[in-house]
Amino acid sequence: MNLTNKLDRHSISQVRERLLSVLQKFTLSLISSLLPQQQQEQTPPASARLEDPSIDPLLQAQQPIQEDNDQLPNVQAPYLPAVSDYQQSQMYTLVLDLDETLIHYFEMGGPDGGGHFLVRPGVSKFLREMSQLYEVVIFTAAMQDYADWVLDQIDPNKQISYRLYRQHATRTGPVFIKDLSLLGRDLSRILIVDNVAENFQLQPDNGIFIRSWFDDMTDTALEELGPLLKEIVRKQVGDIRDALRRFRDQMLEQLQRGVSNPVMTLD
Ligand SMILES: [Mg+2]
Repeated sequence: MNLTNKLDRHSISQVRERLLSVLQKFTLSLISSLLPQQQQEQTPPASARLEDPSIDPLLQAQQPIQEDNDQLPNVQAPYLPAVSDYQQSQMYTLVLDLDETLIHYFEMGGPDGGGHFLVRPGVSKFLREMSQLYEVVIFTAAMQDYADWVLDQIDPNKQISYRLYRQHATRTGPVFIKDLSLLGRDLSRILIVDNVAENFQLQPDNGIFIRSWFDDMTDTALEELGPLLKEIVRKQVGDIRDALRRFRDQMLEQLQRGVSNPVMTLD
């Protein structure tokens, strides 16, 4: 892969996260050497990464972004298989981002170098539980061969129903927007979890922002998210957007009152 192609493959909104990540490089090397082998499978598809960690992020940010959409497979909305009105009324769809939401990819130099990824704590339990409550869809702006390489490893039991990739995202300048209206699902019954809020800017009321994850093995974000997602299904909320608005309002109100560990209900 030449430099130009690599430079094509970044999203400005993630470059600043890469800056943080670079600072953690030495920590990552140490951690990866201590992790079980399954969390550091090697040899990802070389052309597949959203942004290439081997390139200085400052350098990436300075480069013009070139169109590469003509290299992507053609796709036509709606992107998910049709469901009947009755089926739609019985199901919710949970759309999950991949990089820095479920995993973190990195490369190491030297003879043992190559692509590796770390898995966020709680991913396997989260996918197992959510797949029993939701139609689970991965929506990544990464290239398909890279994403499949990761997903085949973190989802061996096929709990993820569908995978959407770069070709399904809507490019606006440097941002790959994930337009939920193109999925073929009722917007009142779909939500997206992503570490980049710009990615769901077209449907902000459907989005849950999750903090970016790189290597913190004490991270509990997925565990914290579980109760809200379970509550939405248990309560059979009519419109997810209303539920998330209420959730945000409650959190804000409790934080303003100085509650140190805010909790929410949908009652
Ligand atoms: Mg991400």
